[in-house]
Amino acid sequence: MKWFLRLPSWVRLSSALTLAAAMFVLIWWMNQKRQAAEDVWHPKARHWTSTPLTVSWDEHFWGAHNNSFSKAVSEINGAVGCNQLRVALDGGPTDVRIVSTDGEPCGDMEALVSKESHAAQTYLCPDGTAEIHIGQPGDVTKSYLIAIHELGHVLGLGHDPYIASGANAPMSVSMMVPNVADYSGRLGTGRRLPAASDKDRRELAKRYCK
Ligand SMILES: [Zn+2]
Repeated sequence: MKWFLRLPSWVRLSSALTLAAAMFVLIWWMNQKRQAAEDVWHPKARHWTSTPLTVSWDEHFWGAHNNSFSKAVSEINGAVGCNQLRVALDGGPTDVRIVSTDGEPCGDMEALVSKESHAAQTYLCPDGTAEIHIGQPGDVTKSYLIAIHELGHVLGLGHDPYIASGANAPMSVSMMVPNVADYSGRLGTGRRLPAASDKDRRELAKRYCK
């Protein structure tokens, strides 16, 4: 350190300040990164070790909504850039079941990752699978929006802020806003179907596209 003490005081001062500034920027940047990841994940998120997860539902029961569910699966895969979800083969093993709200949930409230105002609930089951409980939605856009949102929860995503209502609704919103199903009534006015936000795509790809 002797060489440092021999330097003129203004050099010592400015290098100390530069070092302090660099440390400050580094700490700030690491904090930003940590916060970005925290904003994305649900506090009870399960980190699935093996993907794609297989998704199934009772085709007889869901009728016109079958396409909404498979579209939700392919939209998430397309947005993230790798297959995180796959429609289960008939009778084949299933990681994620879409069932009616009438049924008994597989897990207790502790395992619940989401309870939506539009009566959809997603449970992480003790046997390592997951269950999405929804009522029969009124229209196929609504069932698509509910499915993509709940599948987002299954993969671990948390909520994004509420969307503005009525004419003030933005042109495109994240699929992870809590009231996303309400958006189905506002489409057809140049508004885009809700999809994964850039932040969610990035974090999902980082976690699951290996
Ligand atoms: Zn939700």
